[in-house]
Amino acid sequence: MIVKPRIRGFICTTAHPDGCRAHVAEQVDFVRRQGPLDCGVKKALVLGCSGGYGLASRIVAAFGCGADTLGVSFEKPPAENKTATAGWYNNIAFEAAASGAGRYAKTLDGDAFSDEMKARVIESIRTDLGQIDLLVYSLASPVRLHPRTGVLHRSAIKPLGEPVHIKTLNVDRGEVHEVDLEPATPEETAGTVAVMGGEDWEFWIDALDRAGVLAPGFRTVAYTYIGSELTWPIYWHATLGKAKEDLDRAAAALRARLAGLAGDARVASLKAVVSQASSAIPVVPLYASLLFRVMKEQGLHEDIITHIHRLFATQLCGGAPRLDEAPRLDEQGRIRVDDVELSPAVQDEVKRRWPLVETHNLGELADLEGFRSDFLRIFGFGLPGVDYDAEQDPLMGRPLAD
Ligand code: NAD
Repeated sequence: MIVKPRIRGFICTTAHPDGCRAHVAEQVDFVRRQGPLDCGVKKALVLGCSGGYGLASRIVAAFGCGADTLGVSFEKPPAENKTATAGWYNNIAFEAAASGAGRYAKTLDGDAFSDEMKARVIESIRTDLGQIDLLVYSLASPVRLHPRTGVLHRSAIKPLGEPVHIKTLNVDRGEVHEVDLEPATPEETAGTVAVMGGEDWEFWIDALDRAGVLAPGFRTVAYTYIGSELTWPIYWHATLGKAKEDLDRAAAALRARLAGLAGDARVASLKAVVSQASSAIPVVPLYASLLFRVMKEQGLHEDIITHIHRLFATQLCGGAPRLDEAPRLDEQGRIRVDDVELSPAVQDEVKRRWPLVETHNLGELADLEGFRSDFLRIFGFGLPGVDYDAEQDPLMGRPLAD
Protein backbone atom coordinates (compact mmCIF):
# COMPACT_ATOMS: atom_id res chain seq x y z
CA MET A 1 0.00 0.00 0.00
CA ILE A 2 0.99 3.65 -0.44
CA VAL A 3 0.75 5.39 2.92
CA LYS A 4 -0.19 9.05 3.30
CA PRO A 5 -0.88 11.02 6.48
CA ARG A 6 -4.51 11.07 7.55
CA ILE A 7 -4.97 13.60 10.32
CA ARG A 8 -7.98 13.69 12.64
CA GLY A 9 -7.70 16.51 15.17
CA PHE A 10 -4.55 15.90 17.17
CA ILE A 11 -3.97 12.35 15.93
CA CYS A 12 -2.71 10.90 12.67
CA THR A 13 -4.48 7.62 11.95
CA THR A 14 -1.81 6.29 9.58
CA ALA A 15 1.88 5.60 10.14
CA HIS A 16 4.60 5.14 7.53
CA PRO A 17 6.73 1.98 7.99
CA ASP A 18 9.83 3.22 6.12
CA GLY A 19 9.41 6.68 7.63
CA CYS A 20 9.26 5.31 11.19
CA ARG A 21 12.36 3.23 10.46
CA ALA A 22 14.13 6.36 9.21
CA HIS A 23 13.02 8.31 12.30
CA VAL A 24 14.49 5.65 14.60
CA ALA A 25 17.67 5.45 12.47
CA GLU A 26 18.12 9.23 12.66
CA GLN A 27 17.98 9.12 16.47
CA VAL A 28 20.33 6.11 16.64
CA ASP A 29 22.81 7.93 14.37
CA PHE A 30 22.67 11.05 16.52
CA VAL A 31 23.45 9.06 19.68
CA ARG A 32 26.25 7.12 18.01
CA ARG A 33 27.86 10.35 16.80
CA GLN A 34 28.02 11.63 20.40
CA GLY A 35 30.26 8.70 21.42
CA PRO A 36 29.90 6.20 24.26
CA LEU A 37 28.44 7.19 27.63
CA ASP A 38 29.80 5.78 30.85
CA CYS A 39 26.58 5.50 32.86
CA GLY A 40 26.93 2.09 34.41
CA VAL A 41 23.67 1.28 32.61
CA LYS A 42 23.96 -2.20 31.11
CA LYS A 43 20.48 -3.70 31.48
CA ALA A 44 17.56 -1.34 31.20
CA LEU A 45 13.78 -1.64 31.28
CA VAL A 46 11.87 1.14 29.51
CA LEU A 47 8.13 1.44 30.13
CA GLY A 48 6.54 3.42 27.29
CA CYS A 49 9.41 2.53 24.94
CA SER A 50 7.72 2.98 21.56
CA GLY A 51 7.61 6.72 21.09
CA GLY A 52 8.47 10.16 22.42
CA TYR A 53 10.71 10.36 25.45
CA GLY A 54 10.61 6.60 26.17
CA LEU A 55 11.89 5.64 22.71
CA ALA A 56 14.64 8.25 22.94
CA SER A 57 15.61 6.90 26.39
CA ARG A 58 15.81 3.38 25.02
CA ILE A 59 17.96 4.55 22.12
CA VAL A 60 20.36 6.45 24.41
CA ALA A 61 20.54 3.47 26.82
CA ALA A 62 21.28 1.03 23.99
CA PHE A 63 23.47 3.06 21.66
CA GLY A 64 25.03 5.49 24.15
CA CYS A 65 25.46 3.30 27.24
CA GLY A 66 25.68 -0.02 25.37
CA ALA A 67 22.76 -1.48 27.35
CA ASP A 68 20.60 -4.47 26.67
CA THR A 69 17.02 -3.23 26.76
CA LEU A 70 13.61 -4.64 27.50
CA GLY A 71 10.74 -2.39 26.46
CA VAL A 72 7.02 -2.27 27.17
CA SER A 73 4.47 -0.39 25.09
CA PHE A 74 0.82 -0.49 24.07
CA GLU A 75 0.66 -0.37 20.30
CA LYS A 76 -1.67 -1.67 17.62
CA PRO A 77 -0.45 -4.08 14.92
CA PRO A 78 -1.59 -3.53 11.34
CA ALA A 79 -4.99 -4.79 10.27
CA GLU A 80 -6.39 -5.34 6.80
CA ASN A 81 -5.89 -2.11 4.80
CA LYS A 82 -4.77 -0.33 7.94
CA THR A 83 -1.28 0.50 9.04
CA ALA A 84 -0.04 -0.27 12.53
CA THR A 85 0.47 2.56 15.02
CA ALA A 86 3.78 4.38 14.68
CA GLY A 87 5.10 2.84 17.90
CA TRP A 88 4.62 -0.66 16.51
CA TYR A 89 6.92 0.21 13.59
CA ASN A 90 9.35 2.04 15.87
CA ASN A 91 9.71 -1.05 18.07
CA ILE A 92 10.55 -3.27 15.09
CA ALA A 93 13.01 -0.72 13.75
CA PHE A 94 14.64 -0.32 17.15
CA GLU A 95 14.95 -4.07 17.71
CA ALA A 96 16.54 -4.54 14.28
CA ALA A 97 19.03 -1.71 14.86
CA ALA A 98 19.91 -2.95 18.35
CA SER A 99 20.37 -6.58 17.38
CA GLY A 100 22.40 -5.42 14.36
CA ALA A 101 24.72 -3.78 16.88
CA GLY A 102 24.89 -6.96 18.96
CA ARG A 103 22.57 -5.70 21.73
CA TYR A 104 19.71 -7.65 23.25
CA ALA A 105 16.39 -5.91 22.60
CA LYS A 106 12.97 -7.35 23.37
CA THR A 107 9.64 -5.55 23.40
CA LEU A 108 6.49 -6.71 25.14
CA ASP A 109 3.29 -5.14 23.88
CA GLY A 110 0.37 -4.92 26.26
CA ASP A 111 -0.99 -3.05 29.26
CA ALA A 112 1.87 -1.95 31.53
CA PHE A 113 -0.65 -1.20 34.29
CA SER A 114 -1.64 -4.86 34.56
CA ASP A 115 -0.19 -7.45 36.93
CA GLU A 116 0.06 -9.80 33.97
CA MET A 117 2.51 -7.51 32.16
CA LYS A 118 4.58 -7.15 35.32
CA ALA A 119 4.79 -10.95 35.54
CA ARG A 120 5.79 -11.24 31.85
CA VAL A 121 8.52 -8.66 32.31
CA ILE A 122 9.89 -10.39 35.42
CA GLU A 123 9.95 -13.67 33.53
CA SER A 124 11.88 -12.07 30.65
CA ILE A 125 14.37 -10.41 32.99
CA ARG A 126 14.97 -13.70 34.83
CA THR A 127 15.42 -15.64 31.61
CA ASP A 128 17.37 -13.14 29.55
CA LEU A 129 18.98 -10.49 31.74
CA GLY A 130 19.21 -11.73 35.33
CA GLN A 131 18.78 -8.27 36.88
CA ILE A 132 18.24 -4.72 35.65
CA ASP A 133 20.12 -1.60 36.70
CA LEU A 134 17.79 1.07 35.26
CA LEU A 135 14.04 1.48 34.87
CA VAL A 136 12.75 4.42 32.85
CA TYR A 137 9.07 5.13 33.51
CA SER A 138 7.72 7.02 30.48
CA LEU A 139 4.09 5.99 30.15
CA ALA A 140 1.52 8.50 28.90
CA SER A 141 -1.99 7.10 28.80
CA PRO A 142 -5.56 8.39 28.90
CA VAL A 143 -6.84 5.39 30.91
CA ARG A 144 -5.72 2.84 33.51
CA LEU A 145 -7.50 -0.32 34.48
CA HIS A 146 -6.57 -0.63 38.13
CA PRO A 147 -5.12 -4.10 38.67
CA ARG A 148 -6.37 -4.43 42.27
CA THR A 149 -9.83 -2.84 42.13
CA GLY A 150 -10.81 -3.46 38.50
CA VAL A 151 -11.85 0.21 38.19
CA LEU A 152 -11.17 1.83 34.81
CA HIS A 153 -9.75 5.26 35.63
CA ARG A 154 -9.75 8.03 33.02
CA SER A 155 -7.51 11.05 33.02
CA ALA A 156 -8.95 14.48 32.28
CA ILE A 157 -6.94 17.43 31.02
CA LYS A 158 -8.72 20.22 32.89
CA PRO A 159 -8.05 23.20 35.14
CA LEU A 160 -8.80 23.10 38.87
CA GLY A 161 -11.28 25.30 40.74
CA GLU A 162 -12.32 28.05 38.32
CA PRO A 163 -13.00 27.96 34.56
CA VAL A 164 -10.02 29.18 32.55
CA HIS A 165 -10.29 31.48 29.54
CA ILE A 166 -7.06 31.12 27.58
CA LYS A 167 -5.39 31.34 24.18
CA THR A 168 -4.75 28.20 22.19
CA LEU A 169 -3.87 27.09 18.68
CA ASN A 170 -5.71 24.95 16.17
CA VAL A 171 -2.68 23.29 14.60
CA ASP A 172 -4.62 21.92 11.61
CA ARG A 173 -6.05 25.28 10.61
CA GLY A 174 -3.17 27.40 11.89
CA GLU A 175 -5.59 29.56 13.89
CA VAL A 176 -5.02 31.21 17.25
CA HIS A 177 -8.23 31.44 19.23
CA GLU A 178 -9.49 31.61 22.81
CA VAL A 179 -11.15 28.75 24.66
CA ASP A 180 -13.07 28.36 27.90
CA LEU A 181 -11.89 25.34 29.81
CA GLU A 182 -14.24 24.03 32.47
CA PRO A 183 -12.70 22.93 35.77
CA ALA A 184 -12.40 19.27 36.70
CA THR A 185 -14.69 17.62 39.21
CA PRO A 186 -12.96 16.03 42.23
CA GLU A 187 -13.61 12.62 40.58
CA GLU A 188 -11.89 13.73 37.37
CA THR A 189 -8.88 14.98 39.32
CA ALA A 190 -8.69 11.71 41.26
CA GLY A 191 -8.98 9.76 37.99
CA THR A 192 -6.07 11.69 36.47
CA VAL A 193 -3.92 11.01 39.53
CA ALA A 194 -4.84 7.31 39.33
CA VAL A 195 -3.76 7.16 35.66
CA MET A 196 -0.75 9.48 35.51
CA GLY A 197 0.37 9.57 39.17
CA GLY A 198 2.98 7.46 40.89
CA GLU A 199 1.06 4.40 42.09
CA ASP A 200 1.81 2.23 39.07
CA TRP A 201 5.52 3.18 39.20
CA GLU A 202 5.50 2.00 42.84
CA PHE A 203 3.69 -1.22 41.85
CA TRP A 204 6.41 -1.88 39.26
CA ILE A 205 9.30 -1.37 41.68
CA ASP A 206 7.51 -3.42 44.32
CA ALA A 207 6.97 -6.35 41.93
CA LEU A 208 10.53 -6.22 40.54
CA ASP A 209 12.11 -5.87 43.98
CA ARG A 210 10.10 -8.78 45.41
CA ALA A 211 11.18 -10.88 42.43
CA GLY A 212 14.83 -10.07 43.18
CA VAL A 213 15.52 -8.71 39.70
CA LEU A 214 16.86 -5.29 40.75
CA ALA A 215 20.65 -5.11 40.69
CA PRO A 216 22.59 -3.43 43.53
CA GLY A 217 22.76 0.30 42.74
CA PHE A 218 19.55 0.06 40.69
CA ARG A 219 18.16 3.44 39.59
CA THR A 220 14.78 4.48 38.30
CA VAL A 221 13.63 7.70 36.68
CA ALA A 222 10.11 8.90 35.79
CA TYR A 223 9.37 11.91 33.62
CA THR A 224 7.45 15.03 34.53
CA TYR A 225 6.63 18.39 33.00
CA ILE A 226 6.52 21.56 35.08
CA GLY A 227 6.89 24.22 32.40
CA SER A 228 6.18 27.92 32.41
CA GLU A 229 3.44 30.00 34.09
CA LEU A 230 1.87 30.30 30.64
CA THR A 231 0.84 26.63 30.68
CA TRP A 232 0.27 26.27 34.44
CA PRO A 233 -3.52 26.88 34.20
CA ILE A 234 -3.84 23.70 32.09
CA TYR A 235 -0.82 21.77 33.31
CA TRP A 236 1.08 22.28 36.54
CA HIS A 237 -1.82 23.90 38.43
CA ALA A 238 -4.35 21.57 36.80
CA THR A 239 -5.31 17.88 36.87
CA LEU A 240 -2.07 16.74 35.21
CA GLY A 241 -0.02 18.74 37.72
CA LYS A 242 -1.81 16.93 40.57
CA ALA A 243 -0.85 13.61 38.97
CA LYS A 244 2.75 14.79 38.59
CA GLU A 245 2.80 15.89 42.28
CA ASP A 246 1.85 12.32 43.09
CA LEU A 247 4.82 11.16 41.02
CA ASP A 248 7.03 13.32 43.28
CA ARG A 249 5.47 11.65 46.33
CA ALA A 250 6.18 8.23 44.83
CA ALA A 251 9.81 9.15 44.05
CA ALA A 252 10.45 10.01 47.70
CA ALA A 253 8.82 6.74 48.84
CA LEU A 254 10.81 4.74 46.31
CA ARG A 255 14.09 6.38 47.34
CA ALA A 256 13.49 5.16 50.88
CA ARG A 257 12.56 1.70 49.63
CA LEU A 258 15.62 1.39 47.39
CA ALA A 259 18.10 2.53 50.04
CA GLY A 260 18.82 -1.09 50.94
CA LEU A 261 20.05 -1.70 47.38
CA ALA A 262 22.04 1.57 47.41
CA GLY A 263 19.57 2.44 44.69
CA ASP A 264 17.82 5.64 43.76
CA ALA A 265 14.54 6.96 42.32
CA ARG A 266 14.13 10.35 40.70
CA VAL A 267 11.61 12.36 38.79
CA ALA A 268 13.23 14.19 35.87
CA SER A 269 11.58 17.37 34.65
CA LEU A 270 11.88 17.57 30.87
CA LYS A 271 11.24 20.24 28.26
CA ALA A 272 8.11 20.62 26.14
CA VAL A 273 8.29 18.67 22.88
CA VAL A 274 5.77 17.47 20.31
CA SER A 275 4.59 13.96 21.12
CA GLN A 276 1.34 12.06 20.69
CA ALA A 277 0.58 12.78 24.35
CA SER A 278 1.47 16.50 24.37
CA SER A 279 -0.40 17.32 21.14
CA ALA A 280 -3.66 16.50 22.93
CA ILE A 281 -3.22 19.16 25.63
CA PRO A 282 -4.94 22.53 24.90
CA VAL A 283 -2.63 25.59 25.02
CA VAL A 284 0.53 23.44 24.75
CA PRO A 285 0.74 23.59 20.90
CA LEU A 286 0.64 27.41 21.01
CA TYR A 287 3.16 27.61 23.84
CA ALA A 288 5.41 25.01 22.16
CA SER A 289 5.29 26.81 18.79
CA LEU A 290 6.39 30.05 20.44
CA LEU A 291 8.99 28.23 22.53
CA PHE A 292 10.52 26.44 19.53
CA ARG A 293 10.79 29.70 17.60
CA VAL A 294 12.48 31.50 20.48
CA MET A 295 14.83 28.61 21.32
CA LYS A 296 15.78 28.23 17.65
CA GLU A 297 16.44 31.97 17.33
CA GLN A 298 18.63 31.83 20.42
CA GLY A 299 20.47 28.73 19.15
CA LEU A 300 19.15 26.69 22.11
CA HIS A 301 16.63 24.34 20.47
CA GLU A 302 16.67 20.70 21.56
CA ASP A 303 14.61 17.94 20.02
CA ILE A 304 13.57 14.80 21.88
CA ILE A 305 16.74 12.79 21.30
CA THR A 306 19.11 15.71 21.97
CA HIS A 307 17.28 16.42 25.21
CA ILE A 308 17.31 12.84 26.48
CA HIS A 309 20.95 12.47 25.49
CA ARG A 310 21.71 15.52 27.66
CA LEU A 311 19.72 13.97 30.53
CA PHE A 312 21.82 10.81 30.39
CA ALA A 313 25.15 12.49 29.62
CA THR A 314 24.98 15.20 32.27
CA GLN A 315 22.71 13.78 34.96
CA LEU A 316 22.76 9.99 34.86
CA CYS A 317 26.38 9.60 33.75
CA GLY A 318 29.31 11.94 33.94
CA GLY A 319 30.91 9.91 36.70
CA ALA A 320 28.08 10.59 39.16
CA PRO A 321 27.56 7.18 40.76
CA ARG A 322 24.22 8.17 42.26
CA LEU A 323 21.60 10.50 40.90
CA ASP A 324 21.68 12.65 44.03
CA GLU A 325 25.33 13.44 43.33
CA ALA A 326 24.46 14.69 39.88
CA PRO A 327 24.62 18.45 39.51
CA ARG A 328 21.06 19.58 38.80
CA LEU A 329 18.56 18.62 41.51
CA ASP A 330 15.84 21.01 42.72
CA GLU A 331 14.56 21.37 46.29
CA GLN A 332 12.16 18.45 45.74
CA GLY A 333 15.07 16.25 44.64
CA ARG A 334 13.97 16.28 41.00
CA ILE A 335 16.48 16.25 38.14
CA ARG A 336 16.02 19.43 36.12
CA VAL A 337 16.89 19.40 32.44
CA ASP A 338 14.13 21.90 31.67
CA ASP A 339 16.61 24.60 32.73
CA VAL A 340 17.12 25.88 29.19
CA GLU A 341 13.38 26.10 28.42
CA LEU A 342 12.82 27.89 31.71
CA SER A 343 15.84 30.21 31.51
CA PRO A 344 14.95 33.91 31.83
CA ALA A 345 16.25 34.70 28.32
CA VAL A 346 13.86 32.16 26.78
CA GLN A 347 10.86 32.71 29.05
CA ASP A 348 11.00 36.52 28.94
CA GLU A 349 10.84 36.40 25.16
CA VAL A 350 8.06 33.77 25.02
CA LYS A 351 6.04 35.80 27.56
CA ARG A 352 6.60 39.01 25.55
CA ARG A 353 5.20 37.30 22.44
CA TRP A 354 2.29 35.52 24.17
CA PRO A 355 -0.15 38.49 24.27
CA LEU A 356 0.91 39.57 20.78
CA VAL A 357 0.50 36.29 18.91
CA GLU A 358 -2.54 36.07 16.62
CA THR A 359 -3.40 34.00 13.56
CA HIS A 360 -1.98 36.62 11.15
CA ASN A 361 1.46 36.91 12.83
CA LEU A 362 1.99 33.23 13.76
CA GLY A 363 4.59 32.86 11.01
CA GLU A 364 6.52 35.82 12.37
CA LEU A 365 6.38 35.05 16.11
CA ALA A 366 5.99 31.29 16.34
CA ASP A 367 7.25 28.10 14.71
CA LEU A 368 4.01 26.49 13.57
CA GLU A 369 5.84 24.81 10.70
CA GLY A 370 8.35 23.26 13.12
CA PHE A 371 5.49 22.03 15.31
CA ARG A 372 3.65 20.54 12.34
CA SER A 373 6.78 18.92 10.99
CA ASP A 374 7.63 17.36 14.39
CA PHE A 375 4.03 16.11 14.62
CA LEU A 376 4.18 14.43 11.21
CA ARG A 377 7.59 12.92 11.94
CA ILE A 378 6.08 11.07 14.94
CA PHE A 379 4.09 9.08 12.35
CA GLY A 380 7.04 8.67 9.98
CA PHE A 381 6.15 11.46 7.54
CA GLY A 382 8.55 14.12 6.27
CA LEU A 383 11.76 12.19 6.88
CA PRO A 384 14.56 12.90 4.40
CA GLY A 385 15.50 10.05 2.05
CA VAL A 386 12.15 8.25 2.32
CA ASP A 387 10.22 7.61 -0.90
CA TYR A 388 6.65 8.41 0.09
CA ASP A 389 5.31 7.16 -3.25
CA ALA A 390 6.80 3.69 -2.77
CA GLU A 391 4.72 0.64 -1.85
CA GLN A 392 4.87 -0.13 1.87
CA ASP A 393 4.65 -3.46 3.64
CA PRO A 394 2.35 -2.64 6.57
CA LEU A 395 3.64 -5.75 8.39
CA MET A 396 7.28 -4.61 8.07
CA GLY A 397 8.26 -8.17 7.24
CA ARG A 398 6.55 -9.66 10.30
CA PRO A 399 4.17 -12.58 9.91
CA LEU A 400 0.48 -11.73 10.31
CA ALA A 401 -0.61 -12.32 13.92
CA ASP A 402 -3.38 -14.89 14.52
P1 NAD B 1 4.16 9.36 24.04
O1 NAD B 1 2.70 9.46 23.79
O2 NAD B 1 5.10 9.73 22.96
O3 NAD B 1 4.55 7.88 24.54
C1 NAD B 1 3.77 7.19 25.48
C2 NAD B 1 4.25 5.76 25.60
O4 NAD B 1 3.45 5.08 26.58
C3 NAD B 1 4.12 4.93 24.30
O5 NAD B 1 5.24 4.06 24.20
C4 NAD B 1 2.86 4.10 24.54
O6 NAD B 1 2.81 2.87 23.82
C5 NAD B 1 3.03 3.84 26.03
N1 NAD B 1 1.79 3.44 26.71
C6 NAD B 1 0.65 4.16 26.85
N2 NAD B 1 -0.26 3.45 27.56
C7 NAD B 1 0.32 2.27 27.87
C8 NAD B 1 -0.09 1.12 28.59
N3 NAD B 1 -1.29 1.03 29.17
N4 NAD B 1 0.76 0.06 28.66
C9 NAD B 1 1.98 0.11 28.09
N5 NAD B 1 2.45 1.19 27.42
C10 NAD B 1 1.62 2.26 27.32
O7 NAD B 1 4.40 10.26 25.37
P2 NAD B 1 5.59 11.24 25.82
O8 NAD B 1 5.20 12.63 25.50
O9 NAD B 1 6.92 10.72 25.42
O10 NAD B 1 5.42 11.12 27.40
C11 NAD B 1 6.19 10.25 28.21
C12 NAD B 1 6.37 10.87 29.58
O11 NAD B 1 7.13 12.08 29.45
C13 NAD B 1 5.05 11.25 30.27
O12 NAD B 1 5.15 11.00 31.65
C14 NAD B 1 4.97 12.75 30.04
O13 NAD B 1 4.20 13.44 31.00
C15 NAD B 1 6.45 13.12 30.13
N6 NAD B 1 6.79 14.43 29.53
C16 NAD B 1 6.38 14.74 28.26
C17 NAD B 1 6.68 16.00 27.75
C18 NAD B 1 6.23 16.41 26.36
O14 NAD B 1 6.33 17.60 26.03
N7 NAD B 1 5.82 15.47 25.53
C19 NAD B 1 7.42 16.93 28.52
C20 NAD B 1 7.86 16.55 29.79
C21 NAD B 1 7.53 15.29 30.29
